[in-house]
Amino acid sequence: MKKNHQSIILIDGLAEITRHHDRKMLEKSVLKTINDLYPAESLQLFELNGVNEDKAHKLIVVVDKKGAINLEHDLRVNTVTEKLNDALSASAESKEIKFLQNADQTAWDISYPILNADNDTCSLLVCHCIKSPSLDEQRIVSGILHVYSNYLTLIDKTQRDKLTGLFNRETLDTEITKVLMQGTIESTGIEIESEKRHSDDLTTWLGVVDIDHFKLINDTYGHLYGDEVIILVARLMMKSCVRGDDLVFRYGGEEFVVMLKAVNEHNAMMAFNRLRQNIDKHEFPQIGNVTISVGFVEVVGQMSATDVIGMADDALYYAKYNGRNQTISYKELLAQEKIVITEHIDNSNADMFID
Ligand code: GH3
Ligand code: MG
Ligand code: MG
Repeated sequence: MKKNHQSIILIDGLAEITRHHDRKMLEKSVLKTINDLYPAESLQLFELNGVNEDKAHKLIVVVDKKGAINLEHDLRVNTVTEKLNDALSASAESKEIKFLQNADQTAWDISYPILNADNDTCSLLVCHCIKSPSLDEQRIVSGILHVYSNYLTLIDKTQRDKLTGLFNRETLDTEITKVLMQGTIESTGIEIESEKRHSDDLTTWLGVVDIDHFKLINDTYGHLYGDEVIILVARLMMKSCVRGDDLVFRYGGEEFVVMLKAVNEHNAMMAFNRLRQNIDKHEFPQIGNVTISVGFVEVVGQMSATDVIGMADDALYYAKYNGRNQTISYKELLAQEKIVITEHIDNSNADMFID
């Protein structure tokens, strides 16, 4: 490939990478750019030690020989050999590029560590190729990965709440919209082999969480102490989430949103309840007991993120007015006719409590 042509691909690729604010899209662009520059048999992006119990590295994106991209949910069959996994661990630890030749010496797996802002390895790129890469190629690939990691740090900062480190409200809107839009084709210009989600019939459930009588905590112990409680509740909720793809957001003040995957309403109720119970049984310094109320709904078929949150919020308020420290399902309230849906003039739905 001519040098000029290569530079154009590189610049175009960097522009494409930094166009995305969504992590998944960003990762796809990175792999696509590297593949356009140095076509490989395949490129694989791994998350370090993922959520696998066996400490195997978690495969998150793959680009195949034809440039087609596979995302996490299509990668249920993990084909990483023990040898490659060891090479990945060695590369992660030494923060150096590692070369692994296959048994019949016909191909290479080149593992590039990707370092975060603290200079720790956070993920790894594996280039499966016929030919060992030149020094120039290694430097350019490492450089692209460096841009990727710097940009990831930047995006992460804009997506998080400063006090708790949880995702912020803006990110919540994006995540809900993503779930509502599932199945529709993204207009990214990147060829995606399969964008269909099929993670074992799991669906997404959204819970709005509010600390009970928080004003009293502020009034009794002071605002700074209140902040500490918010931080502790945030941590306890993070710890209570068992799946790697569960998300916790700070919605505002002492309100949070949790998005989790479950097979049905019963399981979602159990998951939100586990979260509530973990806070209920925690001993908060000085205060002792702090409780939360939760209202939840399935994220499916609503017209907008606002509608989803509105429904969960109605269930939350029912929980508040009926004793607090409990988890209430929006659907259950409707089924029991404890709320009704009435049409607004602007055609959006409003839910009214029935006495
Ligand atoms: P309920 O059980 O009905 O939710 O009662 P509550 O007292 O928790 O609810 P209310 O909405 O009356 O009070 C919430 C309080 O949270 C009021 C506000 O001053 C306080 N607050 C909001 N944001 C923050 C924050 O970032 N830090 C602290 N310390 N307090 C906050
Ligand atoms: Mg509140
Ligand atoms: Mg409250």
